[in-house]
Amino acid sequence: MKDLKHLIYFENLLQEANNDLVKEAEAEGQKCIATVCSQIPEPLLCLPGVFTVRLSAPRTGSIDIGTYYMTSLTCEYCRAILERALEGGYQFLDGFIDTCACSQHADLADNIEQLDACTKPEFKMLHMDTPMKSDPNGVNHMYRQCKTELLPYLQSMGIDTSEDALRKGVEEFNEVCRLLKEIGDHRKADNPNITGYEYYVLCLATYVCPKDKIIDKLRETAEELKTRKPDPDAGKRYRARVLLAGSELDDINFIKTVEESGALIVADRFCFGTFPDREEVVLNDDEDVLFQICRDNVMKCMCPRYMNTDRILERKQYIDKLAKEYKADGIIVQQMKFCNFWAYERADYQHVFPKEYGWPVLSIDRAYSSGASGQLRTRVQAFIESLEIKKIHKQKGATTA
Ligand code: SF4
Ligand code: SF4
Repeated sequence: MKDLKHLIYFENLLQEANNDLVKEAEAEGQKCIATVCSQIPEPLLCLPGVFTVRLSAPRTGSIDIGTYYMTSLTCEYCRAILERALEGGYQFLDGFIDTCACSQHADLADNIEQLDACTKPEFKMLHMDTPMKSDPNGVNHMYRQCKTELLPYLQSMGIDTSEDALRKGVEEFNEVCRLLKEIGDHRKADNPNITGYEYYVLCLATYVCPKDKIIDKLRETAEELKTRKPDPDAGKRYRARVLLAGSELDDINFIKTVEESGALIVADRFCFGTFPDREEVVLNDDEDVLFQICRDNVMKCMCPRYMNTDRILERKQYIDKLAKEYKADGIIVQQMKFCNFWAYERADYQHVFPKEYGWPVLSIDRAYSSGASGQLRTRVQAFIESLEIKKIHKQKGATTA
């Protein structure tokens, strides 16, 4: 396939947390607030004068210092972020919002604060308390937290949090979601004209860049894809289509390795991915806008932290629906080592998806930067072979019957 016009531009933006667009926005006087979790309603950080970045630590090598402070039994995402913070990699931040959604996030935020890792004079940390259940009580809890903690925090930085500003924030967020959906929908085709790698370069950029600054290039890419011809030989390279689920994943090399091993990633359900975090927020004109944004976040969120039984079941149904819609042959579920939420969820998926939904599953636990791992390649290749054998058996069964 012909290269996407802006692919290199987007790839470069993923090379540094303090990328060119972050620098540009800050030079214009915009405040940059970091998060590490989907449980902060993102549109609330797309207001005029402020933007958000989901922290990542590109090109991570050693995480010894992060491990020294957080121990070797915590998730490597948090350790890698702490390591980068202590190296001075997040000095550009004006703020950091910690959800305390998992104890390791809280530990990370405490260390950043106690060790003075972000030294901008006006830097402010906000610790929020997000709900454990996604139900009406959880929505009310999130609403109170945002009203009494988050909005005053933004106001203290001079940010307009009026209803008009909130609506503008939702509109900007929705525009990014619409464009990504348009781009991502090409993956439903039998022979998609965009690879998973290309798609996730764009998708990750929407988390680590000021959204208003990437909209034009996303729009051009969506236009370009309307006429881009798929690779006629893709069938030889990709022998299976998969949905990728699991914990936080910002390692684009992981996606690359899975695809180089022969599995085209056509849909996802992981943090830093598309579903449900890049689905539009639909507002009505009758209810309080802040309440609607909070409800959307709590009720849509597919985080395994939400432990109500109905949501546990709903999460599996959601993945089943996506896998069918994007015509996947199987599901890969990956978990960051020492992530408690996903350790449980992964074990559950590994048993329930094959037995109750008929999906073959490859279950992987991984390090933060595991993209180049030979072991990953071997496991994906073995999974693809098992999918092919299943297909052959199915075809034989159909012929015999
Ligand atoms: S898995 Fe849950 S707690 Fe972890 S980052 Fe995602 S939304 Fe947050
Ligand atoms: S990967 Fe798991 S343990 Fe790590 S920050 Fe996310 S939810 Fe917490």
